[in-house]
Amino acid sequence: MPALVDDIRVIREENPFESMMWRFDHAANLLNLDPDLYKVLRVPNREITVYIPVFMDDGHIEVFTGYRVQHNFARGPAKGGIRYAPDVTLDEVRALAAWMTWKCAVVNIPFGGAKGGIICDPAQMSQIELERLTRRYTAELIDFIGPERDVPAPDMNTNEQTMAWIMDTYSMHARQTVTAVVTGKPIDLSGSRGRREATGRGLLFVIDEAVKKLGMHPASTRVVVQGAGNVGSTAARLMHETGYKIVAMSDIHGGIYNDKGLDVPDLLNYQRIHRSFEKYPQAEPVSNMELLELDCEVLLPAATENQITSHNANRIKCKILAEGANGPTTAAADDILEQKGVFVIPDILANAGGVTCSYFEWVQDRMGYFWKEELVNERLQDIMVASFHDVCKYAESHNVNNRIAAYMLAIDRVAYITRVRGIYA
Ligand code: NAD
Repeated sequence: MPALVDDIRVIREENPFESMMWRFDHAANLLNLDPDLYKVLRVPNREITVYIPVFMDDGHIEVFTGYRVQHNFARGPAKGGIRYAPDVTLDEVRALAAWMTWKCAVVNIPFGGAKGGIICDPAQMSQIELERLTRRYTAELIDFIGPERDVPAPDMNTNEQTMAWIMDTYSMHARQTVTAVVTGKPIDLSGSRGRREATGRGLLFVIDEAVKKLGMHPASTRVVVQGAGNVGSTAARLMHETGYKIVAMSDIHGGIYNDKGLDVPDLLNYQRIHRSFEKYPQAEPVSNMELLELDCEVLLPAATENQITSHNANRIKCKILAEGANGPTTAAADDILEQKGVFVIPDILANAGGVTCSYFEWVQDRMGYFWKEELVNERLQDIMVASFHDVCKYAESHNVNNRIAAYMLAIDRVAYITRVRGIYA
């Protein structure tokens, strides 16, 4: 593990693990965290690397590298998504695993944190290759995951189908159907109603609270969304329905902008047909980097890490930064945003709707009794709104920004449980 640093210029800005540790150290310091507990909480519990041989469709074998980092179990089973991408690294998975621990603690649900990733390019793989990859990865992790151990979920480039394959593989080994081993499953396979939209809906709930707090109104609130996957497109659609003015959206190929507001359902329909926003007639093209610097009230990055850095933070014009993605802002950009007076809803709060609804799915699977969508959404709203106000109160009473407040609140909760449980020797 890298040693404690006290100068932000020393950390590699775009290494998400170092960004996460910088904020952790800062928050732990402000909390006066006991030095022994500090040592325990600043390292993951377990890091697993697996090499996954897969028969490709043309008959040759490819060996993929996969990770599962289980960061913390103090508050309950570890919980966190699995991502498939060519640029997955162990440091990225470590950061994402730690963020899951802090996120579950911020929204006060009984889970620790974990994350998984496989270095692969899903766009170049057939469905059957992806299925073989997923099943073998699951088999390699069979002793480490389970409803009471570690419960994976979807993340970038994985989806309900991936979760169904994991659930089936795990169940074959267990010789019984174990639905609660993963969340984010299809509804007919013991998934939860509302899970698919939960991260975007959670964003809407916390943005609504921030807008009220700052005395703004949805109709005059211009929103820019980066990323049009599960999180970005759901948030944009729900915010459009609520009366917000979505002025720009993008995906990995680029974005589009219309200062009069976009017809979001029409735009998403266009993207579904054309697989890109390019040439959408009712808007101007804009690059992903230009999009972040547009004049707006709410900026909602919902794509990937390291989008707002020390290089562009000065040019960000939003009043509210609602982090749909994990780690879209580097630690080096935090101070710049604070000096500019941007109201940040940090990722470990803003996008916690997904894991909160995953918690509901896990509860429903274990009960074998499934809730109506209205009940899911109502309970999600209760948790997101209460957590938003917990973080704001913490920020105000400790005179720190929202991000550090969220870290302090989370570390405090995990440290308390760790102290009460004690260290097993
Ligand atoms: P997704 O794969 O469904 O969509 C990702 C979107 O981002 C796509 O539109 C893609 O084209 C776009 N994109 C990727 N790289 C980009 C880049 N460099 N610039 C601009 N756009 C880019 O993924 P998702 O599930 O929507 O997740 C998005 C982010 O939200 C990730 O950081 C993920 O960890 C986080 N997150 C997801 C959930 C969830 O429930 N899905 C929950 C919490 C956090």
